[in-house]
Amino acid sequence: MQTKILLSEDQMPRQWYNIIPDMPGQMFPVIHPGTLQPVTPDDLLPLFPMGLIEQEVSPQRWIDIPEEVLEVYKQWRPSPMYRAHQLEKALGTPAKIYYKYEGVSPAGSHKPNTAVPQAYYNKIFGTKRIASETGAGQWGSSIAMACQHFGLACTVYMVKVSYGQKPYRKSMMQLWGAEVFPSPSDRTNAGRAILAADPDNQGSLGIAISEAVEDAATHEDTRYSLGSVLNHVCLHQTIIGLEAKEQLKIAGDYPDVVIGCHGGGSNFAGIAFPFISDKANGKDVRVLAVEPASCPTLTKGVYEFDYGDTAKMAPIARMYTLGHDFMPPGIHAGGLRYHGAAPLVSQLVHEGVVETKAVHQIACFEAAVLFARTESIIPAPESSHAIRGAIDEALLAKEEGKEKTILFNLSGHGHVDMAAYDAYFNNELTDYEYPETAIKESLSHLPKVG
Ligand SMILES: *Cc1c(COP(=O)(O)O)cnc(C)c1O
Repeated sequence: MQTKILLSEDQMPRQWYNIIPDMPGQMFPVIHPGTLQPVTPDDLLPLFPMGLIEQEVSPQRWIDIPEEVLEVYKQWRPSPMYRAHQLEKALGTPAKIYYKYEGVSPAGSHKPNTAVPQAYYNKIFGTKRIASETGAGQWGSSIAMACQHFGLACTVYMVKVSYGQKPYRKSMMQLWGAEVFPSPSDRTNAGRAILAADPDNQGSLGIAISEAVEDAATHEDTRYSLGSVLNHVCLHQTIIGLEAKEQLKIAGDYPDVVIGCHGGGSNFAGIAFPFISDKANGKDVRVLAVEPASCPTLTKGVYEFDYGDTAKMAPIARMYTLGHDFMPPGIHAGGLRYHGAAPLVSQLVHEGVVETKAVHQIACFEAAVLFARTESIIPAPESSHAIRGAIDEALLAKEEGKEKTILFNLSGHGHVDMAAYDAYFNNELTDYEYPETAIKESLSHLPKVG
């Protein structure tokens, strides 16, 4: 009985899979937040290097991973795949459960898969500094680490409440050479305006995005970087699913269902897109995105044009959204609290290719604890949503007496999230009801496009 399925470094994929040429249905342009017209590459150049702008709209199905990026990927990739023998036994399920583990990266999640190429394309473009934002610090630490490899300076605006509550990720960013400012800060017009009106403002991801975008847009040598949602981020993450396909081949298996947790959509896209390509070619495989019930973008949002950020500075895209000023409740899976979703994932949901499901946080922590006590790895609270999804599929297989092969993405470990586990064991967590009135209110503020 094999438990770990490993690839050698020379079996690592040399190309990312770009799903754009294989998308079903109509693709919509990205809209400029000021002019309400489709954006041009020139509009994006103050924010992103040309290499990434090209990938954002590339019609090319396979895109070479640069040699310099492969060299850094090799520090932790190929990542392992596991067969969850102990979890299967505990569930008494006839289903086979496999998981791909992205917590082996230095930052502890899948995010460095895109941080490294983003830093690389900035380097060759001539960028000297990257400005970005972070909520709980997972993205900030990934981009800080990546900037080190390519000699770039890195400025991170960290949501103030997290800056105080989650000091260890701030320490990781500083160790990897980034300068970290609690947001709102006095370094940008956006930050100063908020502080003038409310000196005790604790910040939000939307405000931090506005600060980082302004920093990049107002400094010639600086570009902005985003850790999820965008097409090029989904592209870079496909190395997860491409490796997983090779590993399942070694195991002599193929999944009936592929599962990922969903915040902005990047780790889900990473594991799922290579299998969606098989699905388009006639393979019988389901793909399932699992999100928190307290921030139910895919299951309760609308498929409309909306701003990427609260301050309406980021481009407008057609996506599933709860409204750019929707403030989700403070659940412990901080990485899943975005109001929107990747336009590519959104379109696949709209076309009926991707299934969606919303789960409550206590059920997710129950799943995470069972997972930690059987498979030993301590999952990130975000990843526990995928575990919940996989366990529910396995229990259904048991009920139906059916064999089934389940693959899920374990997007990261929870070593820096132990306060969330403490809160769970102290019975301090609550399941928030679907915030219907708040969503209705924020959905009345969508931009009028077209
Ligand atoms: C950031 C994060 C997520 C959510 O982001 P996606 O872009 O939806 O993948 C999920 N899991 C972990 C561990 C994260 O750090």
